Amino acid sequence: MAAEHDRGGGRKIIVKSAEQISIMQEANQIVAQTLSMLEKTIDVGVTTWDLDQLAERNCLHHKAKPAFKGYRGFPGSLCVSVNEEVVHGIPSRKKKLKNGDIVSIDFGVLYRGYYGDSAITVPVGTVGDRVARLLAVTKESLERGIAQAREGNRVGDISQAVQNYVEAEGFAIVRQFVGHGIGTSLHEAPEIPNFYQGETTQRLLPGMVLAIEPMVNMGTHKVKVLRDGWTVITDDLLPSAHYEHSVAVTEGEPLVLSLRSG
Ligand code: MG
Ligand code: MG
Repeated sequence: MAAEHDRGGGRKIIVKSAEQISIMQEANQIVAQTLSMLEKTIDVGVTTWDLDQLAERNCLHHKAKPAFKGYRGFPGSLCVSVNEEVVHGIPSRKKKLKNGDIVSIDFGVLYRGYYGDSAITVPVGTVGDRVARLLAVTKESLERGIAQAREGNRVGDISQAVQNYVEAEGFAIVRQFVGHGIGTSLHEAPEIPNFYQGETTQRLLPGMVLAIEPMVNMGTHKVKVLRDGWTVITDDLLPSAHYEHSVAVTEGEPLVLSLRSG
């Protein structure tokens, strides 16, 4: 789940111990395994409600709690956002996936007191070339952001790596929603915007855990929230993609806690 930009300024950053990061890795591996299961299930005719129920059952099976259900009143366990929906789509029995759709699935769990959070965008059947490119660029932009999650860098190095790549590819970065720190709360400081914020952003320290989550639009970067209070859609109704990993900053290489096998 993404954080609303400029809602949480000034909160204290909570650095995690190696033991805490190890629990967060377990939490995020439940998320990763659930996303892999959902990816295999996504097909023409499947409803977004089916995906929500599968995610919830798998999570409970692993003795974890779905993190989004009831978060500020969100009604589902899974955020499922189709085509022009950017993030925070509400699962629905009425919403059947069609050939050529793209579906962003964003899942979070609470496990042994810590949160995990990760997202992927999956094509349904055969998608057009430009849509396939949108997915590939969004995924690669996340990798470029993660590569900057190093001791001594700043949050802005992550933001710029994502933005520069996405815009060079002719797509647009969502500004109204951003990544976030994560730990015993789903959304902690600092914010991780996917766009340039000026010189003096937070310095990255070992033990910080960051949910990095580029939301990339094919057309305008502008988005709006539907009257359900949750679903974020693109202003021009062109498609949007979303990938997210929870990443620990270490003294060496970034540790992707929600890394999926295969
Ligand atoms: Mg998320
Ligand atoms: Mg998130």
